[in-house]
Amino acid sequence: MQAYPGLYPVAPPQSAGPEPLMTSALAPPQVLTHAGFDALLAELKRSGHRLLGPIVRDDVVVYDDIESTADLPRGWTDVQDGGHYRLQRRGDDALFGYAVSAQSWKPFLHPPGQRLWSARMRGDAVQIQPEPPPSERMAFVGARACELHAIALMDRALLGTGPGDPYYRARRAQVFIIAVNCSVAGGTCFCDSMHAGPQVTAGFDLALTELSDQSPPVFLVHSGTTAGSAVLAAVPSAPANAAQIAAEQTILAHTRASMGRKISSTNLHDLLLGNLQHPSWTEVGERCLACGNCTMVCPTCMCTSVADVSDLSGERISRSRRWDSCYTSEFSYLHGGSVRHSTAARYRQWLTHKLATWHDQYGSSGCVGCGRCITWCPVGIDLTEQVRAIAAPPAG
Ligand code: SF4
Ligand code: SF4
Repeated sequence: MQAYPGLYPVAPPQSAGPEPLMTSALAPPQVLTHAGFDALLAELKRSGHRLLGPIVRDDVVVYDDIESTADLPRGWTDVQDGGHYRLQRRGDDALFGYAVSAQSWKPFLHPPGQRLWSARMRGDAVQIQPEPPPSERMAFVGARACELHAIALMDRALLGTGPGDPYYRARRAQVFIIAVNCSVAGGTCFCDSMHAGPQVTAGFDLALTELSDQSPPVFLVHSGTTAGSAVLAAVPSAPANAAQIAAEQTILAHTRASMGRKISSTNLHDLLLGNLQHPSWTEVGERCLACGNCTMVCPTCMCTSVADVSDLSGERISRSRRWDSCYTSEFSYLHGGSVRHSTAARYRQWLTHKLATWHDQYGSSGCVGCGRCITWCPVGIDLTEQVRAIAAPPAG
């Protein structure tokens, strides 16, 4: 990312990134009751965090503001498939008994619209007012393993090794993360294939496993940072016993075994880049509507474009960036035309970037296997099927 010296009011601090990620727990796991979990959320609120977590809205689990566990999707699970999403009752009181929400945490760290600066005419002079980075403290409640991997990928792209994006940096530096190990896999999940789940291993302050079949239901809690340990110490909890620790591994094994999708991630880079003229790109391009849904819901798609808006008098103007999608012809418009003329070329660009050239850019895959692009594609285009079509020996 190019830096624009002087545009931002305060030079973004070089060391204000998030607390270094932990790869192992700081202390033996504790057990929290639902009441203890509520106390923990209240403690975070008391310390000035905006609480964000899963809620049911319009028959979908989405992330939004919450006040307490009363707002969580108690007793709901989701059924997901290509172009298909339904909520249904589980028959218990699980608070995190669904697979993955419709949107990820991306809108809170990298919002769909971000004003960069505004300007107004004062006589013959132009006064430019840069937009200051936000200072809000947020707590993400219920982040999944794949989502933490996605945040780590956004960190690499938007923070990098230099000043990076000051707006992302400001939001990211203030986030407290309560992660949850997945107890169910969705019909479109393949995080296990991408080595991005279902177990939370890094990037959290606290990590929970919901033991919903215990009476009363409890959470096993791991601390991942000193901040997490401090919040946990402020609420009533008890040491986990051996049966509860074993139950966590049983739950994770069940989740791994029930992934709705699989993908062979071995040498995808060479497979895709060695088959750029494969006929399946044309076939998928004929089905694709170029709507961009897949890029909007993907937790690692972060491309933006910039637009200027002025008032009718022309005295005030502002510049904002907004999410964009490589599926639009305008996205690759270069001095006189789009360099990707067909929908097939745009789909191929998206998939080969995600699964192949991301490795060249960042040293890892750009896909964490959350399955959202499959669920929310209106025609059910499935990247795992596309990879299989390319890997299959030619017919005849
Ligand atoms: S490409 Fe699809 S499955 Fe992979 S991270 Fe993005 S939305 Fe999730
Ligand atoms: S793959 Fe599906 S979601 Fe993505 S642009 Fe095409 S039709 Fe839309």
